[in-house]
Parts: sequence; C-alpha cells; structure tokens
Amino acid sequence: MLQPFVHYGLHFLVPIAIAYIFYRPTWIKTALILLATMAVDLDHLLSQPVFDATRCSIGYHLLHQPLAIICYAILFLFPRARVVSIGLLLHMLADKLDCTWMAIS
Ligand SMILES: [Zn+2]
Repeated sequence: MLQPFVHYGLHFLVPIAIAYIFYRPTWIKTALILLATMAVDLDHLLSQPVFDATRCSIGYHLLHQPLAIICYAILFLFPRARVVSIGLLLHMLADKLDCTWMAIS
C-alpha cells in the first residue's frame, strides 16, 4: 500500500518539489526536465518481458547498471547537466527503494 505511494511520489512529486524549491525562477521548465528523465525506463523495452513487477531494475536494465549510475553522478559536476543528473539519480533512488522493499517483503 505504501510502496506505490513512495515510488510514484519519488518519480513525480519530489521532482516537482525540487524544481519549485531550488529552481523557482524556472521551476516549470526544470520540473519538466526532471520528469523527462523517466525516459531512462525506455531500456525496459530491451527486456523480456518488458514489465515485471517482481524484477529489480537496478543492475538488470542497461541504463540502470552501476556504471551508468556513476555516469549520472558525474553529470552532476557539470552545471548544464545538473538537472538531468538529479532526475536520473532520483529515478535510480526510487527504483532502488523498490528493490529494497521487494527484498524485505
Ligand atoms: Zn527505472
């Protein structure tokens, strides 16, 4: 019951809150960029089945590999790519929380 709320909250509400709090002058544009980073889930299309509610995305899908996540963190160092980095890292955090939730339940 709580897991979907946390998951979608991290995917939708937290990015909007981050944009509103930290990027107030351009918060709508920033929120849209943060939300657009969910396109990273297009790598699911390379898997069979495409969606599996019991599968942990982290370490399984191409753009959810540890090396990719390190690259997302490095992007944070570049101001022009920082918002994309935040969106991708937040996405990975949401997915990792899901994995942890599945592991303990
Ligand atoms: Zn994902």
